[in-house]
Amino acid sequence: MKVTEYIEKAAGQTLISFEVLPPLKGGSMKAIFDTLDPLMEFKPPFVDVTYHREEFIYRKRESGYFEKVAIRKRPGTVGICAAIMHRYGVDAVPHLICGGFTKEETENVLIDLNFLNIKNVLALRGDARKFDGKFIPEKNGHSFAIDIVEQTTAMNKGIYLDADIDDGAHSDFCVGVAGYPEKHFESPNLDNDLMFLKAKVDAGADYIVTQMFFDNQHYFNFVDKCRAMGINVPIIPGLKPLTKRYQLNSIPRMFHIDIPDDLASAMQKAKTGADLKEAGIEWCIAQSKELKERGAPCLHYYTMGDADTIRKVAEAVY
Ligand code: FAD
Repeated sequence: MKVTEYIEKAAGQTLISFEVLPPLKGGSMKAIFDTLDPLMEFKPPFVDVTYHREEFIYRKRESGYFEKVAIRKRPGTVGICAAIMHRYGVDAVPHLICGGFTKEETENVLIDLNFLNIKNVLALRGDARKFDGKFIPEKNGHSFAIDIVEQTTAMNKGIYLDADIDDGAHSDFCVGVAGYPEKHFESPNLDNDLMFLKAKVDAGADYIVTQMFFDNQHYFNFVDKCRAMGINVPIIPGLKPLTKRYQLNSIPRMFHIDIPDDLASAMQKAKTGADLKEAGIEWCIAQSKELKERGAPCLHYYTMGDADTIRKVAEAVY
C-alpha cells in the first residue's frame, strides 16, 4: 500500500515508522533484522531503507603513486527492501538519490521496484561526497530531488526515457521527499527552501518526511508555513534520540540543526553513560508524545542501528 493510503486509513491516529541503513559492503542482512525484529511489535506499516553513494579515498602506494580506493559502499537497497517485505509483510520504502546515478540507472531501479510491487519511494538529491566539497551530479544524472520526482511521476504515466516506448507500463509509485524544518543548509533562508519544497510537491510528491529536529516548535512552524503556501501533503516528522555526549557536536555538524539548551545541559550534566542515554530518551519521548497529541500523521524514527533505544521510546509512546 502507499504511505499516503496508510495515513488516510489511520484516520487521524499517529502511525509509527522506522528508517534503517543498509550494511556496508561485506556486511549481512542480519544487522537489519537485528534492528527491525524488536521493533515489529509496534506494527509499522512501512520501513524506509536509505541509499548511500560510494565514497573514495586516495591511498598512497609504495611506488609513491596514489590509488583511488572505494572505502564506503552501502549497496543492496532494493534487495533489502524485498527482504524486509518478505520477512515482515510490511511495505518498504527505498530511498533514491541523484548522486552516483545516471537517469537511465534511476529508471532501471524504478523498473525493478515496480516489478517487486514496491509502491513507495523517497526521492532525494543526496549529499556531496566529502572530497567534492559541493554536490556534483553524475554525467547524465539528476541535479535535484525534483528531477527524480518528475521521472517517477512520468513513469506512473507510462513515459520512459526511451522515446520509442509508446505508453509503457504505468507504475503507481507514491513519492515522498525530504523537508527541513530548520532549512536545508545550502539554502539562503527557509522561505527560499520552501519554494523548492513546494516545487517538489507541485511536481507530484505525495508526502514529506522531515530532517530530524529536537525542538518541536520548528516542526509546528514548518507545517504552518507549508500550509500557508499551499503545501497540503502529509508532513511526517523525523526523530532521533540522542544517546552519546559527542552527538551534541556531531549532530549539528552533520545535519545542520540546533540542539535546545535544556537538552544540551541535561546531557552535559549526566554523570554516567546510562544517565546520559536516559536524558536523550526522555527528551525524545516528550517530543513524540507532543507530536502525537497534536496530530502528526506518523512518527518516523531514524534507528541508526540502535533498536534498543528506539524500542524504549516506542514503548513509552505507543
Ligand atoms: P533537494 O530537494 O534537491 O534540495 C537540495 C538543495 O537545493 C536545497 O538547498 C534546495 O533548497 C535547493 N534546490 C532545490 N531545487 C533547486 C533548484 N531547482 N535550483 C536551485 N536550488 C534548488 N542522503 C543520502 O545520501 N541517502 C539517503 O538515503 C538519505 N535519506 C534522507 C532522508 C530524509 C528524510 C532526509 C531529510 C534526508 C536524507 N538524506 C539522504 C540527506 C539528503 O540527501 C541531503 O540533505 C541533501 O543535501 C539534500 O537532499 P534533498 O532531497 O532535500 O535535495
